[in-house]
Amino acid sequence: MRLELTHEQNEKLEKLKALKSHTHNVESLLMQLIEKELKSYENAQRKSSKSNKNTEFGAARSKNPRQISKRLRNHVLNTANYKCQYPGCESRHFLQIDHIHPVRRGGDQRRSNLQVLCANHNRHKG
Ligand SMILES: [Zn+2]
Repeated sequence: MRLELTHEQNEKLEKLKALKSHTHNVESLLMQLIEKELKSYENAQRKSSKSNKNTEFGAARSKNPRQISKRLRNHVLNTANYKCQYPGCESRHFLQIDHIHPVRRGGDQRRSNLQVLCANHNRHKG
């Protein structure tokens, strides 16, 4: 491998060689730099493909009828006065948004299909 370096480039290379004193020749120094560059490039690639997956995942999640938006959740809690809506129960603890018609049986996340239940009654309902 032959390199045509300007005086300035050569000086920089010499400086780098001095910094990496354990590196004995230009070739291995260059290999180190190349590997470092490749690694950071691969990492960047991996990161961007990861974030792509995240957006796909996020889009898929928002179509999930189990997913209730924060706004809707707050609205449901608010109209229920932050109390369990199970008859005779007024628990204000561990409140959960329940799908009256369960999602697995085709229920959706429309306001009319949502109610507030405490964890206890939500569990009873199954
Ligand atoms: Zn309850």
